[in-house]
Amino acid sequence: MRLRFAPSPTGHLHVGGARTALFNWLLARREGGVFLLRIEDTDRERSSVEMLDAILEGLRWMGLDWDEEPFHQSRGLERHQADAHRLLREGLAYRDFTRPEELVRIRQEDPTRAARYPREAADAMAPGESEERAHGGEPFAVRFKVPAGATRWKDLVHGSLRFRNTDLEDLVLLRADGTPTYNLAVASDDHHQRITHVIRGDDHISNTPKQILLHEALGRPVPEFAHVPMILGPDGKRLSKRHGAAAIGEYRKRGILPEAMVNFLALLGWSPGTDEEVFSMEELVSRFSLDRVLKKSSVFDPDKLQWLNGRHLAKLPASRLAPMILQELGELRGVAEERIAGEPEWFASLAELLLPRARSGRDLAEQARPYFAERIDYDPEAVRKHWRKDPETAVAHLEALRACFHEVEWTEDALETALRALAKERGVGAGKLIHPLRVALTGQAVSPGIFEVLAVMGRNLSLARIDQALEELEAAHRRDS
Ligand code: GLU
Repeated sequence: MRLRFAPSPTGHLHVGGARTALFNWLLARREGGVFLLRIEDTDRERSSVEMLDAILEGLRWMGLDWDEEPFHQSRGLERHQADAHRLLREGLAYRDFTRPEELVRIRQEDPTRAARYPREAADAMAPGESEERAHGGEPFAVRFKVPAGATRWKDLVHGSLRFRNTDLEDLVLLRADGTPTYNLAVASDDHHQRITHVIRGDDHISNTPKQILLHEALGRPVPEFAHVPMILGPDGKRLSKRHGAAAIGEYRKRGILPEAMVNFLALLGWSPGTDEEVFSMEELVSRFSLDRVLKKSSVFDPDKLQWLNGRHLAKLPASRLAPMILQELGELRGVAEERIAGEPEWFASLAELLLPRARSGRDLAEQARPYFAERIDYDPEAVRKHWRKDPETAVAHLEALRACFHEVEWTEDALETALRALAKERGVGAGKLIHPLRVALTGQAVSPGIFEVLAVMGRNLSLARIDQALEELEAAHRRDS
């Protein structure tokens, strides 16, 4: 199997293109085939090296490695032209001398005639006239003579598809300036690169009969085609920037892991046939097949990407988590770096504690902050709810906890037993102590289990946090009175 991804370097690598690349890559890797890149850079004005670099960088980041040197379509110009001239010689294409303004006039008079007109004009010429006019320097386009009948193929996603050839205009192969058109270049290159399977977006379905006809006219094998369905935004419209869908590089900047991106893209249009959702790259390679590519469009769900990111994050070893966290910690970086290096086991337990709630490296860093910082900021909502509603009680509870924590053995079990006993002594439910304590320790109203938090935070820092909370409450009290 020889497959290709054929991006145009006129824009960034977006979700749709990345998914096309991934499906080609997965199939090539699964089948022991070859995955090629073809850079469709014939639009010189809109193509740029920067875009190409960004596309390649995006593919590398996702782990989609390609075989052989990338192939540049623009370098195949002479071959494309030779294919058109061969069809011309064999009578399967013709010269079209129609002037643009002439065609405009005909279209205004009778729109249905415009499509037929160039062939009629060519057929009406006397023998030798076409060559003569060409020799005389008159500009012409080369058009393919679409044969009668129908074009069919068995699409590997959609099943049998059929187009009536009468619905296809005689397509231009070479423009008057001699440049090849898109369909000629693609058919010519697919043959040249010995592509066996073309997997691409549904938006190319209408090009496929034209490309098949060209392969046939040139007496070449026709590749298999698989058209993967569109990706829609949550509103059912074709996915675009409006939906917040961004270039692949942007997700990387936002802290999405490549393994999560790949997993997410795979599920946009492919289904494992079970309700499993979290897949590693290796699992995808061994499970992917075109029979399970869905015919209907799939909807881009950013929440799902975040969720998958959390799932993949949780699988990362601490060695990969540390740099992600450090990068986000700002001024705490130095302190954190030292502590992580000095106490790798402690860091592993911190990561284990925080991972279930984290969806990105940034999340993780935000949650990790209280474990490194000397002082923390408090979420105003948490403060209002758990401290300020009844500040005197909060102070009393925190003071009692501080006294109790001075004594107790610092393990999750011992802490839990002590806190529950203290709650009983004070005649309240354990929650009444836990909520203000959580705000004191983390600044937030939600956190992992409080006893695990205490255990990982350690006695000194936990006590310092309670002190800071009491100061804070004291200061608020003074402000109020
Ligand atoms: N360059 C085309 C695109 O970016 C791909 C053409 C193809 O896969 O045949 O949509």
